[in-house]
Amino acid sequence: MTERISKSAEETTLEDIKLNYTAVKQNIAEAMDKAGRCDTVRIMAVTKTVPCEKINYAESLGIDLLGENRVQEFLGKYENYSEKSEIHFIGGLQKNKVKYIIDKVSMIHSVDSVELAAEIDRRAGSHGLVKDILLEINIGGEESKGGIAPSELIETAKAVSGLENVRIRGLMTIPPVNCDEKYFASMQELFENSKQKYSFLSGMDTLSMGMSGDYATAVKYGSTLVRIGSGLFGYRNYSKI
Ligand SMILES: *Cc1c(COP(=O)(O)O)cnc(C)c1O
Repeated sequence: MTERISKSAEETTLEDIKLNYTAVKQNIAEAMDKAGRCDTVRIMAVTKTVPCEKINYAESLGIDLLGENRVQEFLGKYENYSEKSEIHFIGGLQKNKVKYIIDKVSMIHSVDSVELAAEIDRRAGSHGLVKDILLEINIGGEESKGGIAPSELIETAKAVSGLENVRIRGLMTIPPVNCDEKYFASMQELFENSKQKYSFLSGMDTLSMGMSGDYATAVKYGSTLVRIGSGLFGYRNYSKI
């Protein structure tokens, strides 16, 4: 595991971003190797609090996927993006904000209720779109976090799969900080089992799991998409996400 010296976002230069990206790619390759995987893991650059200049620089290095958390911040920055990248929404999403992002993002990772999925369905339909979504799982059972309880996944997914303008592409999770690997293993099991067992989930191809502090573990347990913020752009001085 290549560890880069962690700097604050303000201190992180473009050169640092380049070195950080190289380290992340290397660590993912090592974790894939160890796990005997020969498929691919996508790297998402999480943009919260990061100025557009640095985001566009990251794109110039080859990053082609951005992750957005906050509707307001995203709408303010969106115009200045270089338009090359695919954009996914990954933050907590209120129903009344869906209309602002529906035509600007290609996937929504944070769907944690049938009601939210129904609103996405309605708005997608009015734009003539079918929107890709991930169902967010609260794998640690933490009260402070959003997400569906693992035991409620199938019931929720069944209801969501009846909506015409959304397509369930997979699962997303934010495991507890510094948690035991068993949570990652449980997510992998939930993903694989439900895909095999239920026809309405057989199209799942995305397991969005792993952030700066735990992406190597996530890759070990089958993650196909890691969401990296501070590991690319430096640590954020305020913790509000
Ligand atoms: C902020 C955030 C990330 C990235 O976190 P880092 O620890 O900075 O890599 C990933 N996923 C979600 C949902 C986030 O809000």
